[in-house]
Amino acid sequence: MSETTLIFADVETTGTRATRDRITEIVAIKVIDGQVVDRWSSLIYPECKVPAQITQLTGIHDDMLSDAPRFAQIAESLREWLSDGQLVAHNARFDYSFLRNEFKRVGQDYRASLICTLRLSRRIAPQERQHNLKALLNRYGISAVRHHRAGDDVDALWSLWQTWQIEQSGEAWQSLLGDERRYRTLPAHLDSAQLEGLPNGPGVYLFYGHNRLPLYVGKSINLRSRVLGHFQRDHEDDKEMRLAQQVQHVEWEETAGDLGAQLREAQLVKTLMPIMNRQLRKQRKLTTWHWEEAADHPELLNGSALSQPIGGTLYGLFHNAREAKNALRSIAEEQQLCPRVLGLEKGKGRCFANQVGKCRGACNGQETIAEHTQRAQAALKQLQVNVWPWPGSIAIEERSAGATAPAWHVVRQWCYLGSSSSFNKAQTLAESPASFDVDSYRILNRFLRYPEQHGLTVTTL
Ligand SMILES: [Zn+2]
Repeated sequence: MSETTLIFADVETTGTRATRDRITEIVAIKVIDGQVVDRWSSLIYPECKVPAQITQLTGIHDDMLSDAPRFAQIAESLREWLSDGQLVAHNARFDYSFLRNEFKRVGQDYRASLICTLRLSRRIAPQERQHNLKALLNRYGISAVRHHRAGDDVDALWSLWQTWQIEQSGEAWQSLLGDERRYRTLPAHLDSAQLEGLPNGPGVYLFYGHNRLPLYVGKSINLRSRVLGHFQRDHEDDKEMRLAQQVQHVEWEETAGDLGAQLREAQLVKTLMPIMNRQLRKQRKLTTWHWEEAADHPELLNGSALSQPIGGTLYGLFHNAREAKNALRSIAEEQQLCPRVLGLEKGKGRCFANQVGKCRGACNGQETIAEHTQRAQAALKQLQVNVWPWPGSIAIEERSAGATAPAWHVVRQWCYLGSSSSFNKAQTLAESPASFDVDSYRILNRFLRYPEQHGLTVTTL
């Protein structure tokens, strides 16, 4: 379906209940790339009497309809005509539900994506209280010859649309339409009012289900587009679909930027354990190779060692000892290092690898230990874990264009201690107890490599 084919439509009916009342008139115009290319207009015999108050309102009376076709007679061609565009209408759910019900009566399942000009109007002029079509036409000085006749209303709606397009900048208009498309797909249990205040800046958001069960925590540099984006793709993604079906409540916290959002996300995932955050969910354990100054081989060390000042050098972050040993073993093989000297293999004297020509012989004196150590450390260099380069705690000042306020994130030995909106308050966080967390380590390591590129300023505390 083309995003640029719009079908402006209006139906007149015998009442307001779509399941029981009937359509008496349908008018629609088809607009492609801003040009009206076709028009559909038909009175419909509703197979019942038109109530007097409806005749008064619309001017449509029984005599006018007696020769008109029944819906069943035009259903096929109308369906074909409507099939390639988005339906634009004022209070679109009304027209849509009448059309759906009429098609249902003839055994057809009609579906369309909707753009509701009533909702658009609320968004364009939230300060106004009246958003019915008549009020809008008055406000914008658009004349409709006979209000409440479908043809005139559709033409007026198209004029209104063009007026809006001219009034709004191209970007604002696209953003309005984008919002309208997103809201159209909002989860059934979620009140759209909850999302009204969603900012376009950075932060974290939390989705809750029934009984405030935490479902999902996410982060973005644009909260609004990210949160709404979840519900746009739900028809094509099972996970998003499950989320959209369960979410009942949304909360968010603004942050000073991307770093603050990532740190807070990792923290919230660990404390709330949302059922749909598999990726960051567990407090992961880590192991690393620690090579002390004078040692001839590295030792495995728990990754929490990273939260303490430590001499020597750390190589690699691994999920477990097996992974760590495999990594070291493959480097040894590549470099013809000695697995026995490296501690990967028990025993004394000449190793098996040397016997098959895969070790240069640090185990039997063919190579000096010093030379072997130098080669091994050079090969491991690529895995070197950044040691904490500051004497103690630091405050990372973050400011970003989209954020409403700056923040100071306090970190010691790669452990995130918390954030504050002022430097003075941040200083009090410096003494907080630290616990090492691999996700925070990875996030901080990435951002602190080139702090200025991320708009960050580091101050030692
Ligand atoms: Zn050897």
